[in-house]
Amino acid sequence: MTELLPPLREVIARHGLSASRALGQNFLFDEQLLDRIAAIPGDLAGKAVLEIGPGPGGLTRALLRAGAQVTAIEMDRRCLPALDELGTAFEGRLNVIEGDALKLDQNALMQGGPYAIVANLPYNVGTELFTRWLSGETWPPRWTSLTLMFQEEVARRIVAAPDSSAYGRLSVLAQWRSEARLAMKVHRSAFTPPPKVMSAIVHVTPMEMPEGVSARLLSRVTEAAFGQRRKMLRQSVKGLPGAIEALDTLGIDSQRRAETLSVHEFVEIARILSA
Ligand code: SAM
Repeated sequence: MTELLPPLREVIARHGLSASRALGQNFLFDEQLLDRIAAIPGDLAGKAVLEIGPGPGGLTRALLRAGAQVTAIEMDRRCLPALDELGTAFEGRLNVIEGDALKLDQNALMQGGPYAIVANLPYNVGTELFTRWLSGETWPPRWTSLTLMFQEEVARRIVAAPDSSAYGRLSVLAQWRSEARLAMKVHRSAFTPPPKVMSAIVHVTPMEMPEGVSARLLSRVTEAAFGQRRKMLRQSVKGLPGAIEALDTLGIDSQRRAETLSVHEFVEIARILSA
C-alpha cells in the first residue's frame, strides 16, 4: 500500500497546498519520523483514532499504515482533495470531516467504542483542546490516550514536577488522574516551514480518578494558586472560600508557594473543598 502513495511533497505541490500561517500550518514530510510518531500510542491495528488537523495527510497515512481506522477533522478545505486520495488508497479506513475541532462534538463523531486521539496542531488550538480533554467531570473519558505535538516549552510544562519553573496549572491538570510523559522531541527543521521553536510530543493516558474530587474545584484551586505563583498560598488562595481552612486541616504551611505543592496536595485541597 505504502509504495503506491506519492511522496508528500508531490501531494502538496499538485494540490497547491502552500502552508498557511493563519492556520498554524507546519507540515511533516519525513515518513520514517511520521511512522515513529504513529507508533507512540502503541498497536493501532483495527483501533479507532481521532486525528485533529491532518493537513495534507502525512501523519494520517502513518496512522493508516499502522492499521488504524481514522476519523480526521480538518478545517482547511484546500486539504480535502489530498485527503480524499488517501481515503481511496486505504479504502473504508479514513473518514474526513471538514470543520473546526473546537466547535465539533467529538464524542458524537466517534460513535461506539473507545478511541485514541492524535494531533499536530497550532499552539493555541492544541492547548485549548488539551485543557478540554482533561477537564471533564466524567472519568475515565472515552479516549484511551492523547498523543499531541506541542512547542517543547509547553510539553515541558505538561510533564513538569513540583519545584520547577515549568510546573503549573497544566502539570496538575495533566497529572492528577492521568499519566503524562514526554514521548519524543521533534527538531524544528523537521517541519515545512520550520517554526521558530523546538517541538515535543506528549503522550497522556487516563488513570483512576481520585474519589470525591470535583475537576472544576481542582481547577479553581490551581487557577488561584498559580495565578499569583510568586505569592504565598495564604495570599493567593484567600479569595477561594474554605481554601485557607483546607490548608490548615491538611497541615500545609500557608507560607509555601504554589509551585512547591505536589499534585497530590492539590488534589487533597480540592477534595476538602468538594465535600
Ligand atoms: N498533521 C499535519 C502534519 O503533521 O504535517 C498538519 C499539521 S499543521 C501543524 C496543523 C493542521 O491543523 C493544519 O492542517 C490546519 O489547517 C489544521 N487546523 C488548525 N486549526 C484547526 C481546527 N481548529 N480544527 C481542525 N483543524 C485545524
